[in-house]
Amino acid sequence: MPLCVYLCYTAGCQQKVERWMPTAEEGAAARIECPRCGEPMQCAWTGSQAPTPNLKDAKVPPVGPVR
Ligand SMILES: [Zn+2]
Repeated sequence: MPLCVYLCYTAGCQQKVERWMPTAEEGAAARIECPRCGEPMQCAWTGSQAPTPNLKDAKVPPVGPVR
């Protein structure tokens, strides 16, 4: 029973939700609404052996100028 992670990519929200799913396939297919802004969240992880992703590792645009 994989623990699936969903991230909200809405600017200023970036909520992270973890859900236990019966299978990784169901976790990837699930459409989770962000509890904060109501937008659909992206499935970031479906319970593989990889470590849990953090928001700072996700595809979030960097804040401020990048040198
Ligand atoms: Zn959100």
